[in-house]
Amino acid sequence: MNEMTHAFTSLIYEKPEEGIARIWLNRPETRNAQDTHLLYELNRAFDRALADDEVKVIILAAKGPHFSSGHDLMEKDIPNAHARHETVGTWTGADWKGVEGHYVREKEIYEGFCRRWRDLAKPTIASVQGKVIAGGLMLVWPMDFVIASEDATFQDNTMFMGIPGAEYFAHVWELGIRKAKEFLLTGQPITAQEGYEAGMINRVVKREDLDEETLKFARLIADKPAFALKLGKDSINAAFSAQGFDNVQRAAYNAHHLAHAHWRLQSGMPLDPSFAQRFTKLQGKKVISE
Ligand code: ZN
Repeated sequence: MNEMTHAFTSLIYEKPEEGIARIWLNRPETRNAQDTHLLYELNRAFDRALADDEVKVIILAAKGPHFSSGHDLMEKDIPNAHARHETVGTWTGADWKGVEGHYVREKEIYEGFCRRWRDLAKPTIASVQGKVIAGGLMLVWPMDFVIASEDATFQDNTMFMGIPGAEYFAHVWELGIRKAKEFLLTGQPITAQEGYEAGMINRVVKREDLDEETLKFARLIADKPAFALKLGKDSINAAFSAQGFDNVQRAAYNAHHLAHAHWRLQSGMPLDPSFAQRFTKLQGKKVISE
């Protein structure tokens, strides 16, 4: 176990063997629901692995029966990233009115992190068991490889909440157009085997073999030259740009927030989301007119 493990509270960071870093989501009591704290910790954990020249490949795994239940909808006192001095982008600010607070928050911690993690300059592997729901997909899809156990299922259930897809809109790239439509518009889960057949998953393994099979896969990468790995990954990721990912992502993200705003209006809720009110309290200053 790595000496830095103690530095994280929602994660475990370790180097199980030469050339390999492994980050565990470690909120099994919440089925690894992603609160703001976990996401910023995860970003720091990736940075730690990137900065460590001994690390050639990074595994993202999860403690407990399920990989991730998605974003933590029970989160209280959501911290303002700006106040935490941990911004990875430039979207956040203090003067949030209307839908702005909601929009910029998700722009940073969901879309922003996912796009950053997809392009990390080292190969990444998601090691997945149990359920992966909505925001959970956003910790799987940005990784370069996916090793899943037979029991794993994947679902974007946002349509049930009136939202046309999770904030990172890679559905088409992960599943192909036909399957992506089924996945998104029915909101039904798919199995690891279906994901494999669609090209979303590299290996499907027995649950009890997941950790070892993931390490075995990581070893196939860890013995290659680091610079060549970075260049190879970057060259393949260039296809996202060539295929128009950025434009699709931007359009889908705006549609996502149009739906958020529509849902709030339909529900008779103020467009100023409760997020902003909580930010205000945390920042100790008023940004919402009453
Ligand atoms: Zn959202």
